[in-house]
Amino acid sequence: MQKSKSILVWKNIIFFSVSFLVAITIVPWYGFAYGFDLSPWIWGTVLWLFSSTAISMGYHRLWSHRAYEANPVLRAILAFGGCLALQNSALHWSSDHRIHHKHVDHDHKDPYSASRGFWHSHIGWLLKRENQDKRYDEQYDRCPDLKRDPIVMFQHKYYWKIAIWGNILVPVVLGLIHGNVVQMVLIAGVFRLVWSHHLTFFINSLAHIWGTRPYTEENSARDNIVLAVLTGGEGYHNYHHKFQYDYRNGVRWWHFDPSKWWIKALSWIGVTKNLKVVSKDKIEKAKAETLLLKAKEKTAHLHNAEEIMQMLQSEYEELVAKLNEVYVARKQWVEAKRDKLSETYENLDLRKEYQQLKRKFELQKAIWLQLAKQYA
Ligand SMILES: [Zn+2]
Ligand SMILES: [Zn+2]
Repeated sequence: MQKSKSILVWKNIIFFSVSFLVAITIVPWYGFAYGFDLSPWIWGTVLWLFSSTAISMGYHRLWSHRAYEANPVLRAILAFGGCLALQNSALHWSSDHRIHHKHVDHDHKDPYSASRGFWHSHIGWLLKRENQDKRYDEQYDRCPDLKRDPIVMFQHKYYWKIAIWGNILVPVVLGLIHGNVVQMVLIAGVFRLVWSHHLTFFINSLAHIWGTRPYTEENSARDNIVLAVLTGGEGYHNYHHKFQYDYRNGVRWWHFDPSKWWIKALSWIGVTKNLKVVSKDKIEKAKAETLLLKAKEKTAHLHNAEEIMQMLQSEYEELVAKLNEVYVARKQWVEAKRDKLSETYENLDLRKEYQQLKRKFELQKAIWLQLAKQYA
């Protein structure tokens, strides 16, 4: 077998080292020596939120996963935000990301595999690469849908020009308006870039190491509220790896996921459409199955393991059966409503039946959770 050839990507090594060193030495030194005004911090925060939202809403959920559709104006704004985030073009980023999902945790096929440790998945993969030229040519061919998007292709063609000039000109112009270019360049330019880079990188590193796995244990991805808050909702990574086409990463309404809220709110005025969601029964089933597997694993060594497993299995099957009944009843009721049978007796019956089955399911869920959590 041919050994894969690694090359050091010097331009990345120099850029990431220099920007990081400036952020942890010159920025604090300047702060102590001269102090910073409020304005560079405000603009730094605005540019960070804008560019990281462009990565989350645009690069990730729109282009990598096609979790919704967006009109050209929004796509252009997201493409510009992606340039300010300085994480390569949407086509390049999405190509890497689709491969990450397809081969998650594979030592060599997953570009930022967590199985190779924190450093590699965080930034090491950007500093040292294997067979990169061949890989990217092939990968772009695997994104024919993105190649058909003129905004994606325009951004890809002029990416470095827009990204480099954007990251220089925006802080400089803001600094001229504010009256202090050095402060603005240090905070809204360099410090903001380093901060937003590492927060995004945490999704590839920490979100595959630290957190819970309620939806699947088939891969290393984890749900982590701290990372969700810091990355605009991207921290619900376990759910995302299980159901990658859902436009939500934080699936419950109270999960902190601003990208989800933006996408939903923009759909009310027609800017986004065809938002993809996974049905509740599939989500419930994934959670129950994961809990069952966890409980089985933890009880396997006990002397009465077989008895416990049988009990767990039968309650689990009962739960899934009730879940299926609720799903069928709900579907019938929704279809009846759509066929304008509302207000008719048939529709009322269907609704009553659905509600009854739902109550039975909730009861079974409580029994199941009490039993399974005792062992899991
Ligand atoms: Zn991941
Ligand atoms: Zn993803």
